[in-house]
Amino acid sequence: MDSSCLFCRIAAREIEAEIVRESDRVVAFRDINPQAPTHILLISKEHVASVADLGDHHGDLLADIVQAAAHLARAEGIADGGWRLVTNVGADAGQTVFHLHFHLLGGRSMGKLASGPEGEVRLQ
Ligand code: AMP
Ligand code: ZN
Repeated sequence: MDSSCLFCRIAAREIEAEIVRESDRVVAFRDINPQAPTHILLISKEHVASVADLGDHHGDLLADIVQAAAHLARAEGIADGGWRLVTNVGADAGQTVFHLHFHLLGGRSMGKLASGPEGEVRLQ
């Protein structure tokens, strides 16, 4: 655990969050600034900065995150409508917390996959 890392501290329950699911490897909690009716963050308990730092031994962790997301989508009632699972890496993607996390988003139409800062679609 990195005691200067916000998400390590949430996983250790040192900082409060609305935790909705926990397993050996994964913690899921509601985003403090939701971008959709359902906006849950799924994080590793292990401190990893982003998916760019995952190795061969992280296969089970990734499977756990995806299965937890699918479970939560059903529990949130968004499984039929559809949902999005995204992760940001680095500045251009808008990563602000450098601890591995995936955003589970749903409950409304999620629109285009990638939009610019003003909401316009950028193809280049
Ligand atoms: P990202 O921009 O991909 O790094 O996502 C970081 C996310 O963490 C943002 O959506 C924030 O709203 C969310 N966030 C930041 N601090 C907290 C917190 N204390 N509890 C829950 N979510 C948080
Ligand atoms: Zn961390």
